[in-house]
Formats: sequence, structure tokens, C-alpha cells
Amino acid sequence: MNAPVAEEWLLADSAWWGAGRWFGRCALRLHDGAPADSSPAAPEDVPARARTRRLAGTVLPGLRDAHVHCGLADIRAVRAGGIAEVHDLGSAPDVLAALRTADPALPRTRVVGAFLTAPGGYPCDRSWAAGSFREVRSPADAEIAVAEQLSAGAHAIKVAVNSDAGPVFSGSVLTAVVAAAQRAGRTVVAHAEGRDAVRFAYDHGIDALAHTPWTERVDDGLIADAAQRMSWISTLDIHGYGVDTPEFRTATDNLRRFVEHGGVVRYGTDLGNGPLPLGVNRREIAALLAVGLTPDDVLTAMTDVRGGAPPCWIPGGLDRDRAHFAESLCHAQVVDSITQSKPCDESPER
Ligand SMILES: [Zn+2]
Repeated sequence: MNAPVAEEWLLADSAWWGAGRWFGRCALRLHDGAPADSSPAAPEDVPARARTRRLAGTVLPGLRDAHVHCGLADIRAVRAGGIAEVHDLGSAPDVLAALRTADPALPRTRVVGAFLTAPGGYPCDRSWAAGSFREVRSPADAEIAVAEQLSAGAHAIKVAVNSDAGPVFSGSVLTAVVAAAQRAGRTVVAHAEGRDAVRFAYDHGIDALAHTPWTERVDDGLIADAAQRMSWISTLDIHGYGVDTPEFRTATDNLRRFVEHGGVVRYGTDLGNGPLPLGVNRREIAALLAVGLTPDDVLTAMTDVRGGAPPCWIPGGLDRDRAHFAESLCHAQVVDSITQSKPCDESPER
């Protein structure tokens, strides 16, 4: 017998629900803590006997950090800091096993399994990477390596292409990785670092970059091509943590031109890499605004309206003005499901 679906309605003062779609007073139906419909409804549409909860503020699809290492950061604190979903971009099997427990304090998680890399390639020599990489020796081995990650629950495949730190894949091995991932309906995300690494990744059909390129200025022609086909995960703040650096400037210049060409940007921080805030990162958002994203674009980069993550809300309302937007978004909280929330229907002020 299936357990009954727990249904409730959130009554909010306002909502943002996908690019350009702002709502005033509205109602969002939840099934087991996740949005049940493609957009909020009018408050009058809530059935008379429905279970409701009022949130004084703005409701959003669940905020997502698309680049996290769950073994290197306290992801319960990340959820408590307003992030509903994290994408783990490389962790050891014991870390991934711990994520599979049904713990309501954990964010929703998507994983890639291990970094796939050339024998002796990045990040094999990094202490933080113990157990979280898989060396791939041939095109045939690539198929096995991809299958291993899929059986570990991978929603995408991660490869390392770092010509600054050891050997990188041959073209035939990378082609085999991408083909095996495509056959399984998975995208491939690359850590591209060093001379011509972005070109190599693009030419071999990589779908996404785990970082905005920061080791070299990517030429305009390649940026224009990449913007047609790739998404880039931002990770700007790791290049200085608020201090201006040459790497930060190179990355922001590349991302600004990628955005001008219409490229898809996803908010991600590389949590676990240095002193980053656990939760919504104001500096990362400020950097995205500075390269030309609007507040609406930033929300798009942080959410997936069809993704099924629990929604977030901003007590007191989200300030859409550019000058206050990043600060305002840092007040985000993940909306707990009925089973987690207190019986009273008015959520506490922060
Ligand atoms: Zn990373």
C-alpha cells in the first residue's frame, strides 16, 4: 500500500516562478514538500478544506548550488542557509552512501560519482580527492567507468581536463566517455583548467563546465560557440573570496562575454574549496550581477522550476532592486515539509 501523499498549500505575499514570472498574493500547492504544479495559483483557488500554511514573504523554487563537494562542507548547514538542492561534483563512495539516507536536514542532492581522469591526472595528487577519482585507461575502460558512476546514482558524469596538473585524456578516451554518457541520457561536466582545456572540452562534446574558465582568456569565437551549446557553472568567488585577483578578473571577463553571447549560467560555488559561506553566497551573486545578469537572471541560474526541489521563501519579501537583491536573497530559507514543520501555521520571523 502506498503512503498517502501529504498535500498542503503555501499562501504567500508574492512569488517568483521562472524567468520573468512574478506573482502577487498567491498559493502554491505542495505534494510531500515539493511543488505540485507548474506555477502558483490564485488564493481563491485553494479548496475550502485544504491544509494551508501562510508565509509572509516571497516564495521561490528551491535554490540550488550546482557545484558542491559534500564530503568537504557541512551540507546540513548549507540547507539551513537557504539552499534546497546541491549538486555534488565529485566525492568518495562513503560520502555518497551517507547522502542516500532519508535525512530531512540534508538538501536534495544530485551526484556525479567520481571525477573521471587520465591515469595520474588531476586530481589524483590532491589530498582532498582521496577516493573521489577514477582513472580511465582506454576507450573501453571509459564505458566501464561511466557505468560504475551510473550504478552509484550519477545524474551526470564529471571529467577532469587539467593540462596544468598532469596528463589529460586522449581525444579518443574523452570521446568514449561522452558517448557512453549520452547513451545513458546523461550530460558531461568538465573541470577545464590550463592552456586550451576549454577548446579541448568543447571540441569533444562536453555539455557543461564546472567552473567559469579562469586560467586563460577564452577567445571570442570559442566563447560564441560555447554559448550556443554549453552551460557554465559560475564559481567566481573561489578566486579571491572577496579579494580582487587576476584569476577573478579573467573569470569575470570570460563570463561577461559568455553572457553577452546568450550562454546559460548556473549558480555554483565549489563549496568545500576554501572559506565560502554555508548557504546562499552573497559575493557569488554580486559577481553574477556585475557580469551583466539581472536579478531575474540570477534566480534563473539558481533554480529549476520543474526540478522538484522543495521551495524556498524570503521572510519579509525579496527585494528585486539590484542594489539590495544579493543581500535580500541571503535571507532565503528552505520550506520544510509538513512532517518537519511545527503545527502552528505562521512561520517564525528570522
Ligand atoms: Zn569542485
